[in-house]
Amino acid sequence: MLNLVLPPDLIQVILASLREAGQREIGGILMAEHVGQNEFKVCEITVHRRGAIASFVRLIEDAVGKLRQFFQRTDHDYKRFNYLGEWHSHPLFEPMPSNTDDISMLEIVQDKSVGANFAVLLIVKLDTNGQLAGTAHTYLPDGGRVRSTIIFGDQGNQFRLQ
Ligand SMILES: [Zn+2]
Repeated sequence: MLNLVLPPDLIQVILASLREAGQREIGGILMAEHVGQNEFKVCEITVHRRGAIASFVRLIEDAVGKLRQFFQRTDHDYKRFNYLGEWHSHPLFEPMPSNTDDISMLEIVQDKSVGANFAVLLIVKLDTNGQLAGTAHTYLPDGGRVRSTIIFGDQGNQFRLQ
């Protein structure tokens, strides 16, 4: 079981991006701090428009650059600060992983060059009140997929979404 903490400032970044994107899918990578045994706090995300194959190479380059900056800022303390996974929006349907999502996450977690023990997929959307709704799943190299808990907010001001 893994808990994914989304701090308030990051929630604001996601909300603003979702509102700006409207019905277009957006997404990027999650960079996180390991804050507890099974708890990861998302520190930074990248935000890209999804779907356009032509922009895919640029998307990866942009994400790699951001990841490198993140590692520099956190003194290459990979045990504590690292790549955690991916996020994207489902503006028009439920924020649950699709078949394609499952396949692409398995590719990431089984990719030897990525070398991850697991990877998290966060899927978000705006609910009918314009607030953030979403799910998180953890993918394992053996093909397993486990539902994870999203914790909105910081200590003392949290609410959980299963
Ligand atoms: Zn999806």
